[in-house]
Amino acid sequence: MSHVFHRHLKQRYPTAVGGEGPYLIDAEGRRYLDACGGAAVSCLGHRDGEVIEAVREQVGRLAYAHTSFFTSEPMEALADFLVERAPEGLSSVYFVSGGSEAVEAALKMARQYFLERGEPERRHLIARRQSYHGNTLGALATGGNAWRRRPFEPLLVEVGHVSPCYAYRGQAAGETPEAYGERLAAELEDEIQRLGPETVMAFVAEPVVGATLGAVPAVPGYFKRVREICDRHGILLILDEVMCGMGRTGSLFAAEQEGVAPDLTTIAKGLGAGYQPIGATLVSERIREAIAEGSGFFQHGHTYIGHATACAAALAVQRAIESRDLMARVRWLGDGLQQRLEARFGDHPHVGDIRGRGLFRGLELVADRGDKTPFDPARKLHAAIKRTAMDEGLMCYPMGGTLDGQRGDHILLAPPFILEEFHLDEIVDKLDATL
Ligand code: PMP
Repeated sequence: MSHVFHRHLKQRYPTAVGGEGPYLIDAEGRRYLDACGGAAVSCLGHRDGEVIEAVREQVGRLAYAHTSFFTSEPMEALADFLVERAPEGLSSVYFVSGGSEAVEAALKMARQYFLERGEPERRHLIARRQSYHGNTLGALATGGNAWRRRPFEPLLVEVGHVSPCYAYRGQAAGETPEAYGERLAAELEDEIQRLGPETVMAFVAEPVVGATLGAVPAVPGYFKRVREICDRHGILLILDEVMCGMGRTGSLFAAEQEGVAPDLTTIAKGLGAGYQPIGATLVSERIREAIAEGSGFFQHGHTYIGHATACAAALAVQRAIESRDLMARVRWLGDGLQQRLEARFGDHPHVGDIRGRGLFRGLELVADRGDKTPFDPARKLHAAIKRTAMDEGLMCYPMGGTLDGQRGDHILLAPPFILEEFHLDEIVDKLDATL
């Protein structure tokens, strides 16, 4: 018996022992094409020579320095790199060890910002239904995924949830994308009024929804309207780019494609590409300033924040993406993947929608394409897809539908940026065999 306390205590998993570019290899020598980067993490693939060397070099020099005593060279350099490329106004970076920690830091920073300004009543959050922002208690409370929340209710943070921007299921027949976006904006406004505009501190959303909906971008103009509404009421906009950020959608930050600048942005997965655990919260100047000029101390922290080796790994990853022009490759491969998915599954009786941006694509599975009826979630189709795909030598990221029928099963694809074109065919062939 394995002594690993695994999340799925009733399942057995193969032991991963190696990797090679976009493939993972298990102890029996089986190779799996990593079409989801684990969970949109491994954007450079496995065993990248430059990153390995950067990690080796940093560990050899200085592995760790506690941030209550020091910063470190890689930490400074990574912060500079990110701020130079971040959406306007984001001027400093708080490093953590993963996505949930980045979201927790953003939430506490938003709260502290208003406390420093003498507005303690601003404590409510608004997020969207069927969203995921992490598994720590604050991040869990923020997310609008009923299945994850329910066992732990009542949750510590009070959050109002509004509809996600999810055109496939949300946009009414005959409604334009613009009108749909307006309807969602009106719903957000109503929720702000319900809670009391002076009590709301932030609105949290993923620019392109990853795990919970399967690579769903917003309709054009939606985020601009959200930004306007937040500004009108003095509410902060937190964009969670833990999954969709760091080049995944074809631009370093997904928000660039929406033409909006957030007050706080969270990043993680693709930042270190899995070579080290790292995440970060990017902070706008007005928030940094309010805290700097107020108490001067952010009431938060973990032992491993700003880990020197993790920062060195992330810096090497991000420099590699830039020097190898991988963002252009993401856009090119992403178009190729979308075309292949449409060609193969466009007429599939159980594929309702194929969507996404860059190398972030989703297929929604339905029992009936005509009326978009999802499969009965009790069938646990997603679990069967995951197992079958692994048997086919493919790693993909399937997610189950909701009991209320608000979402079907879907498969998320988020492969490494270093694929060759033939890998796209391999993904589609193996997915076809799986389905
Ligand atoms: N936010 C989003 C949008 C995510 O997709 C995830 C992870 N799936 C998280 C936060 C939490 O990140 P982590 O698992 O690294 O804590």
